Amino acid sequence: MQFPVFRTKVKGVTKKFDLNSPAGRRQYFELKAGPEIKKLRAYFKKGNTFIAYLLGKKNSGKGTYSKMFAEIIGHQYVEHFSIGDMIREIDRDLKDAKKKKELITFLEKNYRGGHSVEELLSFLKKRSTSAPLLPTDLILVLAKRQISRGKKKTLFIDGFPRGLDQINFTLFFRDLIGYREDPDVFILFNVPEKIIDERMKYRRVCPKCQTSRNLKLLPTSKVEYDAKKKEFYLLCDNPRCKSVKLQPKEGDEKGIGPIKARLLKDEELIQQAASLYGIPKIFLRNSVPETLAKTYVDDYELTPEYYYQWDGQKVAVKEKPWVVADDEGVPSYSLLAAAVVLSLIKQTVEVLHL
Ligand SMILES: [Zn+2]
Repeated sequence: MQFPVFRTKVKGVTKKFDLNSPAGRRQYFELKAGPEIKKLRAYFKKGNTFIAYLLGKKNSGKGTYSKMFAEIIGHQYVEHFSIGDMIREIDRDLKDAKKKKELITFLEKNYRGGHSVEELLSFLKKRSTSAPLLPTDLILVLAKRQISRGKKKTLFIDGFPRGLDQINFTLFFRDLIGYREDPDVFILFNVPEKIIDERMKYRRVCPKCQTSRNLKLLPTSKVEYDAKKKEFYLLCDNPRCKSVKLQPKEGDEKGIGPIKARLLKDEELIQQAASLYGIPKIFLRNSVPETLAKTYVDDYELTPEYYYQWDGQKVAVKEKPWVVADDEGVPSYSLLAAAVVLSLIKQTVEVLHL
C-alpha cells in the first residue's frame, strides 16, 4: 500500500525551527498550521470530541505523535488512551485488595461473554507479550469503564484493534463507550522497518523520569564518554534527574529481529483497516524518498544521525544526514515527529470538515 508523501513545506515560511525543543515546536506549528490549530481548538471549545484509532506497527511512534498533537492543541481536549497502559494499571490494581474487589464487582455487573470472572482474572494475571490476546469482550468492557471515569475528551486509541478479528468492533466502539454522535477516524502510520529497527537498537531510557531518547537519532544535551568501555552514553538533562545515565531497554539490542512476526500481523491489520468503507482515514508517513525531499519538506524537518568524537578532554557532538532504505528499498529520510504531527493536524481538519 502506498502512503502519499505530505507536503510540509509552506510557501513563505523560510525560518528554521528547533523541533527538539517545546518552544521551537510551538513557533513551528504556529507558523505552519496556525489557522488549522485555531479551527481545532474552536471545535473542541464548543464541547465537540472525536475518536481516532491509531493503527501502526509496534514501536512506530503512535504514542509520541498523539502526545505531541495534545501538546499543541491542548491536553485538556485530547487524551492518548493506550490499551497496554490500561492493562498494566489493572495489573497493579490486582495487587491491592480493595481495588481488586472493585474490579470483581464491576465485572460481575458489566461483563457479558463466554468466561467466568475467575477466568477473566486469570487472563489478566497471565498476560504477557507472548501470551495470546485478551478476549475482545473483556478489553471492551474494561476500556468503557476506564473511559467513563474521566471527563469526556477526544480519544486517540492505541492498541485496539490489535487483531483482524477485532477490526469490525472498532466500527461500533463509539456506541459502546457512549460517544455515539462522535466522528471516528482511522489514523494509519507508515514507518519503514529499518527505522523501527534503529530506533530500538539505539534507544536509551532514563531510569528516573522514563524519558526515551536515542544515542544515534535523538541524544540528550549531555553526552559523555566511558574511556574503559570505549563507548559514548547519554545523561538525562531533566534537572530533577540529576544527570542519571540513560540505559538501554532489555531486548532492544536485537532490534526488530524477535518481533518480525508481530510486525507482519500489524501490517495486515493496517491493510485491512485501509480497505474498510464508511470511516475516514488519515495517512501518516514517516519517510520521504531522498529524491522528493527538496520539493516536499524543509531540511530541519528531517532526522539527522548523530555521531561523537572524543579528544581526550571532551565529547564533540556531530550530525550528518541520515539516509535509510524504506520497505521498498528506496533511499529515504525519516521525518522528525513534529513534521508528521503537522500532517496529522492538517488532515484532521480536513476529515472533520472544519
Ligand atoms: Zn530523567
